[in-house]
Amino acid sequence: MGIIVQKFGGTSVADADKIQSAARRAIRAQQDGNQVVMVVSAMGRQTDYLVDLAKQICDAPPAREMDMLLSTGEQVSVALMAMAIHALGREAVSLTGAQIGIHTDSSHTKARIQSISTDRMKKLLDEGKIVIAAGFQGIDEDFNITTLGRGGSDTTAVALAAVLNADACEIYTDVDGVYTTDPRLLADARKMARVSHDEILELASLGAGVMHSRSIEFGKKFSVPIHVRNSGSFSDEPGTIIGTSSESADRAVSGAALTKNEAQITIAGVPDKPGSSLTIFSKLAAINLAVDMIVQNMGAEGRADVSFTVLEDDLPKALSAVEKAAKEIEAEGVSHNANLAKVSIVGLGMKTQTGVADRMFRVLADEGINIEVITTSDIKVSALVARDRALDALRAVHAEFELDKPPGDRVAFGEEPHDQQSASPVDVVARLRRMEDLTIDSISLDDSQAQLTLFDVPDRPGIAATIFEAIARENVLVDMIVQSMGRDGLADVSCTVPRKELDHSLSVMNKLAEELGGEVTHEPAVAILAVTGIGIRSHTGVSFRMFKALTEAKINVEMVSTSEVRVSMVVAADKGKAGLSALKYAFADVLA
Ligand code: ASP
Ligand code: MG
Repeated sequence: MGIIVQKFGGTSVADADKIQSAARRAIRAQQDGNQVVMVVSAMGRQTDYLVDLAKQICDAPPAREMDMLLSTGEQVSVALMAMAIHALGREAVSLTGAQIGIHTDSSHTKARIQSISTDRMKKLLDEGKIVIAAGFQGIDEDFNITTLGRGGSDTTAVALAAVLNADACEIYTDVDGVYTTDPRLLADARKMARVSHDEILELASLGAGVMHSRSIEFGKKFSVPIHVRNSGSFSDEPGTIIGTSSESADRAVSGAALTKNEAQITIAGVPDKPGSSLTIFSKLAAINLAVDMIVQNMGAEGRADVSFTVLEDDLPKALSAVEKAAKEIEAEGVSHNANLAKVSIVGLGMKTQTGVADRMFRVLADEGINIEVITTSDIKVSALVARDRALDALRAVHAEFELDKPPGDRVAFGEEPHDQQSASPVDVVARLRRMEDLTIDSISLDDSQAQLTLFDVPDRPGIAATIFEAIARENVLVDMIVQSMGRDGLADVSCTVPRKELDHSLSVMNKLAEELGGEVTHEPAVAILAVTGIGIRSHTGVSFRMFKALTEAKINVEMVSTSEVRVSMVVAADKGKAGLSALKYAFADVLA
């Protein structure tokens, strides 16, 4: 007999009718021959209501009491759900996090699960009962109630599916599934039949509306296929499976995303020597600020420009930290730009296909949209553009990669290969103790690369497209691309190419410099050090740790590029091996 975990979000249990229809759904799954565990959120906006109530009583409510309060929302809905099942003539038992035995650390309002006991749930399931678990809560060593952070019921559901080795984890919500882009932004958005955990993690802003990102990180770690579907559809219409493979094996791009409220900070003229970036990012890590799109370009005359983005709301805080750092390291100046947005394309297929990035750049150029900054990971290309052109950019990219049309090789829903449950229950339990900690999947070194930079090229629409089309025509697989915002209307564009392609890439670049203006420099032997992991996004400070490790090893970082799941740094090739061991040492505690 298989086990199914069904999670119902707040909107899916918002009133008595909805609770009853969720109860019927669970009973149907049981009648189909499954053991059923339901994970239930607080009704409707109950958690918001409780938060608001607390704020009316106290400006800064003690975190412990906040958890005591918020956990009641889920306690109400699990009890009602159990009653609804009884009313339909079946047996069910509701359990709080503590009653199940979901043990967490003591960081109230954002606790991390440390272990889950399955005995009580399994016994109840074997007795033929439906188990109804309160989402988003646990208990610490001292029997204090804890909560996992807003949206944490998803994490409860995926964690229970993993420890119970469930056949399916169904997430019932008020959307039909995961779309190729946010359907509220673009009417052409299409529901995907499947999408990989990795793609969803890189499409953070898309996934975020649908599921708590930590729960997807968790699903990836334990190979739990997650089925996101609409609780309102009576027809049992399938939603989207978030699993190990993407929707299409042929397509390079699976989805596109937009983050509208980006602001960029540039520190110009940073002395290009070990420790400069460390000073900058240690100041940011100290105030726990999440930074994105870190770009550091090769320095001219011993100086480099370092830039990164933050959410616009964090701009004032970030600026004051950065200004201090800039003084300390004697940089030339700090500037910022708030009216930006980030457009990204994501796809597993990008790892092997050439000519993907340049298509994105070209279509943006054709729309007359200027690209301010470019960063890449192995499955993502992101471009920073003016906010008032952001929607046009998203639309153009979505159309260019035909995301509105189902891929020709799409595996029909239900026929897809069942994802492997790679972890045995014993493994799962053994890993539970640190299951939501930062985990680094791999630290890699590629010392077969060369780097090229086109400096001071006039910054106008089409520059990146022209450069990377010319390189793609030569069939060179470009790995890292970085473009940084120019000063005085100029931009710097850097990329890495396999060393054996250096000579002819260089002649392409030199020709481009003649046509477009600018000056070419190159570094014949560089190494790319990349840290890839689950939780990079929700753990600030990964870049900081890398800078620190490399600085302590006296290794200069020449170029940086970040994404949601990967931070890559370019160093001199002869420093590659030393860099690799410095990083392995620095991340030893979190290396999977
Ligand atoms: N009720 C909690 C919240 O609203 C947990 C959840 O719904 O996932 O954040
Ligand atoms: Mg929720």
